[in-house]
Amino acid sequence: MEGPEPRAQSPEPRACLSLPLKFPNIPTHCDFAPTLRYDRCSMTHPFQTDDARLPAIKDKVLVGERLNETDALTLYRTGDILAVGWLANYVRERLHGNKAYFNVNRHINPTNVCVAACRLCAFGRKKDAPGAYTMALEEAFETAASGYTEAVTEFHIVGGLHPDLPFQYFLDLCSGLKQRFPQVHLKAFTMVEVAYLAKRAKLSIRETLGQLKASGVDSLPGGGAEIFADRIRHIICDHKIDGDQWLETAKLAHQIGLKSNATMLYGHVENDEDRVDHLLKLRELQDETHGFQTFIPLAFHPDNTPLEHLPKTTGMLDIKQIAVSRLVLDNFPHIKAYWQMMTAKIAQIALRFGADDIDGTVIEEKIYHDAGATTPQGMRRKDLIRLITEAGREPIERDTLYRPVTRTETSVTVAV
Ligand code: SF4
Repeated sequence: MEGPEPRAQSPEPRACLSLPLKFPNIPTHCDFAPTLRYDRCSMTHPFQTDDARLPAIKDKVLVGERLNETDALTLYRTGDILAVGWLANYVRERLHGNKAYFNVNRHINPTNVCVAACRLCAFGRKKDAPGAYTMALEEAFETAASGYTEAVTEFHIVGGLHPDLPFQYFLDLCSGLKQRFPQVHLKAFTMVEVAYLAKRAKLSIRETLGQLKASGVDSLPGGGAEIFADRIRHIICDHKIDGDQWLETAKLAHQIGLKSNATMLYGHVENDEDRVDHLLKLRELQDETHGFQTFIPLAFHPDNTPLEHLPKTTGMLDIKQIAVSRLVLDNFPHIKAYWQMMTAKIAQIALRFGADDIDGTVIEEKIYHDAGATTPQGMRRKDLIRLITEAGREPIERDTLYRPVTRTETSVTVAV
């Protein structure tokens, strides 16, 4: 009697050591090119799978060949998470070796007042609703200065679409922060906020971005992308700009020299095709602008939203989302496992499934905690280091542009 089919095994588990630099989609003139270096790969165990569809994808991954839509769907649909993880880890180690990045940052949410009423959201409030707040500028500056004594290198600034706050408020917020904290990088305003500010100020998106940049904005976060497919957007965030407008705003930001991140909100009413469509649209724009630094898959938190009947994401989906992102987004330098969204424990494991970054100290996260996140609202630098170290990775403190940060007791130095 014949035994079961042997599991497919790769005879070249360390093939990455001799792999030619064959990532045709990463232009050498790209600003990110220095980040996309090919460090030694530490993987010593062979690739193996029971899924007959995966060896062909493995062959593509090993030679740096771009994955297509069918490949991406297969990665989502296979039950062999370990094989997908092997591939994602292979790419992750090829790009970043054993390094895992984190930063020391602070979130500032100037207002939760919002004209939109996205069903995905537990943060936004109407102006007169209980819990609605808007920080006076001085209050925002005090918030920036409060918290841990560790010197932050980044302010992450996002908020609601306030119907009355003038554009000048946001310009003054940024210039005031820059004046008080000149060494801190301002990563401020999602594409959705930028488009709304432009509309209110009656300016073009390009002009709006230009004025924000002149007032001190250094880069943009990746929020508000959600899922680009119209069918899904109508359900979860039909008051927001559509997917094409999000991509166009990102493109304009990149064109004037502002880097940005990109996100995808998963685990609600989207399907595998919607996720793949989202990833491929981001990859296409990145081919054109090379302005995205990091992709951050965001797990949907349904509590206190109109979609709270939906179940929360599972660990399996969270991990798979990281791995598939790493494999499909071959032109994105970094994949972040945002610990606030997927818990520190899952984020730690994700460092072995394609992620090379776990975000930062955060200090006072509001948006996902309004939606029921049970993670702490901030984490100390030493705890992030411990998480990374216990995952067997080398912790690298970075600034927003992924330059290494060196600290002494009295100074913080960014390598430029
Ligand atoms: S997701 Fe953003 S735009 Fe939508 S309601 Fe919430 S704060 Fe407003």
